[in-house]
Amino acid sequence: MTEIIDGEAVASEIRDGVAECVDTLDEAGVQPGLATVLMSDDDASKTYVSMKQQDCEEVGIAAHDIEIDPDAPAAELYDTVDELNAEDAINGILVQMPVPDHVDDREVLRRTRPAKDVDGFHPENVGRLVAGDARFKPCTPHGIQKLLEAYDIETEGADAVVVGRSDIVGKPMANLLIQKAPFGNATTTVCHSRTQDLAAKLGDADIVVAAVGVPEFIDGSMLKEGATVIDVGVNHVETDEGDSELVGDVDFESAREVAGAITPVPGGVGPMTRAMLLYNTVKAASQQHDIEIEL
Ligand code: NDP
Repeated sequence: MTEIIDGEAVASEIRDGVAECVDTLDEAGVQPGLATVLMSDDDASKTYVSMKQQDCEEVGIAAHDIEIDPDAPAAELYDTVDELNAEDAINGILVQMPVPDHVDDREVLRRTRPAKDVDGFHPENVGRLVAGDARFKPCTPHGIQKLLEAYDIETEGADAVVVGRSDIVGKPMANLLIQKAPFGNATTTVCHSRTQDLAAKLGDADIVVAAVGVPEFIDGSMLKEGATVIDVGVNHVETDEGDSELVGDVDFESAREVAGAITPVPGGVGPMTRAMLLYNTVKAASQQHDIEIEL
């Protein structure tokens, strides 16, 4: 019987834990604050930012919403980040990507104070993650690790295949899976668009993490019987009726016939990514104020 991994339920537990931490911080006179910075007219980016703000409010984190005209000079964004770095009420800074072409996104990441970099993308935080001393684990791979933990999925000694090598999902996911740590210790292969014979690699995998961005790219025939399948993909496709439908990078119907456990889209990884941002924000607040919390 294939287990459908319920990301909404696990994310809800994470949010409850975060809300308790917010109470602990509140008793010590601290309200955690997250600044979201939007420099885009893109509807999807706007929606993501407003969802993040709503999530914050639900657990008692103060959401500070900063919007910058996408045509403004890059310096306006850099200066905003500098100001937020220095602002005591702000514990976490999230600049919604992508930023306009005239802005150097790497400069934005480098400028964000590592202690407030709740996305975990600053080079110092990336280095710490690779070194096994993470300050903030990036939200999506961390959320996936929490799903594996919640469903008792053994990673130790498992053969894992991560499809995708982006800085935000594929690379940090692979790094977490190879760590000498709980829900690590997997033998991990990272695949990408130049990989030869992806199907053979997937066919040997006990755990597959699909972060490709191609609708229903991986189907059941490519998977090993009983594999755990984590679908990161978020793809909007048009149905035969002309409606828009959200699908993952995995063909859910054929994959569920073969998999031991599988995340649905929506309702799998997505809610976890959102919950882990809250987790990192309270963690940042506790570190900055030296207040112990139980996360
Ligand atoms: P990127 O586009 O940055 O990376 C995609 C990766 O897939 C690249 O490494 C690319 O290889 C690889 N790839 C593309 N085509 C193939 C192929 N034919 N065979 C093998 N590998 C291939 O995407 P992201 O990592 O940012 O996102 C991936 C998906 O996850 C997207 O659908 C995105 O929307 C979603 N997402 C979902 C989140 C959530 O919370 N649920 C969070 C973040 C992302 P190469 O490097 O060679 O180009």
